[in-house]
Amino acid sequence: MQFSEIIGQEKVKQKLVQTVSENRVSHAQLFLGPAGSGKLALAIAYAQYINCNNRSETDSCGVCPSCQQFAKLAHPDLHFSYPIIIKKSKEDRKILSKDYISEWREYLLDKHYFPELIEWYTKMETEKKQGVIGADECNQIIKTLSYKSFEGKYKVMIIWMAELIYHSAAPKILKILEEPPEKTLFILIAERQEQIISTILSRTQIVNIPPLDDTDLSNTLSVQFGYSGDQISGVVKNAGGNVLKAIKTLEESISGDYSSGEFREWMLLCYQRKYKELYEFVSKASRLSRARQKQLLLYGLSLSRNCLLTVYGRQDLLAINDNEEEKFTLNFSKFINEKNALEYAGLFEEAILHIDRNGNAAVVFMDLSLKTGQLLNTAV
Ligand SMILES: [Zn+2]
Repeated sequence: MQFSEIIGQEKVKQKLVQTVSENRVSHAQLFLGPAGSGKLALAIAYAQYINCNNRSETDSCGVCPSCQQFAKLAHPDLHFSYPIIIKKSKEDRKILSKDYISEWREYLLDKHYFPELIEWYTKMETEKKQGVIGADECNQIIKTLSYKSFEGKYKVMIIWMAELIYHSAAPKILKILEEPPEKTLFILIAERQEQIISTILSRTQIVNIPPLDDTDLSNTLSVQFGYSGDQISGVVKNAGGNVLKAIKTLEESISGDYSSGEFREWMLLCYQRKYKELYEFVSKASRLSRARQKQLLLYGLSLSRNCLLTVYGRQDLLAINDNEEEKFTLNFSKFINEKNALEYAGLFEEAILHIDRNGNAAVVFMDLSLKTGQLLNTAV
C-alpha cells in the first residue's frame, strides 16, 4: 500500500512523511479517528514508506523487494495484532492473532484495507461476537519484537482496535511501549479515545485522522470498490465521510433492478463477443466486493429460472422488478430455454463456488463470460 493508493487524507500523509524526513518517527503512535476513515491503510502505507529501500520525498517506491512484500502484507518485519475469537479445541486451536494471519491478509486485501469489526468476527467463522486482544497476545507481542528485524530496518507492530486490549493484559505491554527495542514502531489504531486504557494512551503520540471529505469518499467508492456515480451520489451525503457506512448503505440499497441492468449489459457483451468491452467489464467486476460479485452471479441463477418459467408460460410466477427486466427476460428466454437453462445455471453455480473459495475473480468472470458467450451463440 503506497500513500498514492489512498484517496484523500493528504494532510495526514504529509505529516507522516515529514516525521521520516525530519528523523522524528515516534516509536509509539496512536492513529485515532472515526470508523471508515482509512486509518489502517495509512498505517500500512507509513510502515511501508519507512521500510522502503528507495523512497521518494512523498511516497514509497512500490517496486523494491520490501514494498512488494508489503503489498502482500507479508513483510517479515510487519506484524499485526487484532481482536480474535479464541478457539481452544484440539482440532481448531487459535489463540493468537498470527493463528488467523492468512484470514486477516485475505480479508484486508479483499476489503481494500477497510476492515470492520463485526464483519471480521464473522470471517473467523464463529457464532461468538466478542473478540479480544488478550494476555497471550500481549506476551506474543513482546516475543515477536524481541527478535532482530529481518531487513535491518524498522519492525512495525500494528495493533488494530486498541480499545479491545484486555484490561488485565494491558500492563504486560506498557514497558515495551515505553521503551521498545531499537528501531521498533508501534502503531495503535483506534476509534474511541475514551475506551483506551489510560496507561496505554499516555504512552502514545496521537495522530488524528479525520473522516474523509465527500469528494474523497465518492472517489474511494468508485475507484476502489467499483460503485457507479449514480449509486454513490445517493449515499455520500449521509455517510459522514465513513467508507464503511457508505458501503453498508449501498449494499442494502442495491435492488434487483440495479443488478439486472448491469447484468443485461454483460450478457449482451457475451453474446456479441465484444472482447475488449468484456475485458473492461471483468476488470470492473473483479474489483467489487465478494458480496457484490455473488449478487451479480446469483442474479444469473434467478434469470435462468425466470427464462424457464417464461418458456413454460408461467410469467405469473416471475420474480421481476420492472418492465425493463420483464422485456429482457422475454427476449433472453429465446436463448436460455428448456434445452440449456440447466447448463447455463450450472456455469453460474460453478462461478459462485469459485468466488466462495476465493478464486481469482478476474479469472472466474472471464471464464464465465466466454462460456456464456458460447452457450448463447449456439442456442439459436
Ligand atoms: Zn520501495
